[in-house]
Amino acid sequence: MQPVRNLVVVLGDQLDLEASGFDGFDPLLDAVWMTEVAEESTHVWSSKQRTALFLSAMRHSAAEMRAAGRVVHYTAIDDPEGRGTLADQLTVDVVRLEPASLVMTAPGDWRVLESLRRVAAQADIPLEIREDRHFFCTVREFAAHVGERSTLRMEYFYREQRRRFGILMTPEGKPEGGAWNYDAENRKAFPAQGPGMVPPRAVFAPDEITRDVLTLVAARFADHPGRLDTFAWPVSRAQALESLTLFIDERLPWFGDAQDAMWPGEPWLWHAHLSAAMNLKLLHPREVVAAAEAAYRAGHAPLASTEGFIRQILGWREYVRGIYWTQMPEYARHNALDAHEPLPEWHWTGDTSMACLADAIGTTLENGYAHHIQRLMVTGLYALLLGVEPTDLHAWYLAVYVDAVEWVELPNTMGMSQFADGGLMGSKPYAASGAYISRMSPHCRACPFDPQKRIGADACPITTLYWDFLMRNETTLAANPRMALQVRNARLLDEEERTAISGRAAAIRRGEVGANA
Ligand code: FAD
Repeated sequence: MQPVRNLVVVLGDQLDLEASGFDGFDPLLDAVWMTEVAEESTHVWSSKQRTALFLSAMRHSAAEMRAAGRVVHYTAIDDPEGRGTLADQLTVDVVRLEPASLVMTAPGDWRVLESLRRVAAQADIPLEIREDRHFFCTVREFAAHVGERSTLRMEYFYREQRRRFGILMTPEGKPEGGAWNYDAENRKAFPAQGPGMVPPRAVFAPDEITRDVLTLVAARFADHPGRLDTFAWPVSRAQALESLTLFIDERLPWFGDAQDAMWPGEPWLWHAHLSAAMNLKLLHPREVVAAAEAAYRAGHAPLASTEGFIRQILGWREYVRGIYWTQMPEYARHNALDAHEPLPEWHWTGDTSMACLADAIGTTLENGYAHHIQRLMVTGLYALLLGVEPTDLHAWYLAVYVDAVEWVELPNTMGMSQFADGGLMGSKPYAASGAYISRMSPHCRACPFDPQKRIGADACPITTLYWDFLMRNETTLAANPRMALQVRNARLLDEEERTAISGRAAAIRRGEVGANA
């Protein structure tokens, strides 16, 4: 066998056939290396649906590469010769294939980057890491934005991005419509009768490749969380593009209005469901943003919806990625609120009597998906108030969502949701009582707990924990001007009530409230 010149390493979340790793690729000299390894499903207890999506999308992508004339060295997870970890597999394949060098697009996970670097160093072979073009802003540009700043704010970064890429800008260089941000228009709850007719999600029936993967995952990861019979995610670029078109046509105009609202049994609402396709690099964020802007310019979608949607991608998605790569590996160890509670077991089953949590965790396990407000203001909120060890919670979010890759999951969990970074990423903890859930959804109507009550047998655990959170973190939070009012309200509680709140919060932590018997 002729030795390979460049062996292009393609990971499960790097499935773009035009990725930078392929720049200069010569099918006569170069080859592609892909591997399925159990490690990626077991380093956190990855849900069946997440593993199935990665494996199916990888196999579809490998087939497309072969069809394009590329040699692909691919090890399947059930290959008896397979080594089980990325590092071990690459080590043996480098000996076997004798490439002159390894080339890859920058990975999305610090752990993986370090391990592949070690393999290359031990094999004494050059490893060229190329810029990932699937982002508007490079890590170096983000680092320049960070500069000497001690705190970062997404909004300033987002405005820079809008100006720099001329997105939703007028010819005079002003933000379209005169304002940068229409968030205030995007915080509505649904009317009492509900969200109305929600268009069905884009569904892709499993083809032969996916069916094989589903059978394999069901057998090999039988004890992992989640289900497979609902699997309908796009697994190829063609399907991802179809999802994008459906979103723009059927959902974008209403995205803004419904962005923060929740409704029981309605997991999809007017969200895009495009995060997994973008994170696997089946879709380019530039084409997603361009399609949304074009819909606005054509009069198909209102500005508030379009701006709200574009902000999530051009703003938040880029911002969390920049935070990840400029702050790792220390970022993963932050625990500013000194939280050490274990994650309650029922997060892996959804078996809780709290209606909002049962619904959010239920859809998570059923579909590998929950929308942002369910992640931030239901599961994330509960963990924040309970005081869950951030690394435990990180392992849960990384395991259960089909779109979970560490560069995006970790800052969202540690920074946005848990305030574990002490305010580097966001200005205040997203702490709220059950009243927030009651305002944004009808969950409380079907729940045995009362969101207005902080003590008593039927007090909403979220409300109890909210007041307990303010009391426990009083000193830290009092120093934050954006939390001053909440802390002041907690200080007004009399001693008897404070003791009752702490007592009930302790009972919740012991699992005496909230878990189904
Ligand atoms: P939409 O609501 O339709 O938003 C459109 C797109 O904007 C998304 O597809 C996504 O690419 C981007 N986006 C929106 N919010 C964010 C955000 N905060 N950070 C980065 N991108 C954003 N997103 C992931 O892609 N992977 C994760 O592992 C992940 N973990 C999260 C964990 C927590 C605790 C929280 C609070 C949020 C997390 N998010 C994660 C962000 C966000 O919740 C999801 O991107 C979104 O719910 C995906 O659904 P959608 O495609 O329907 O998004």
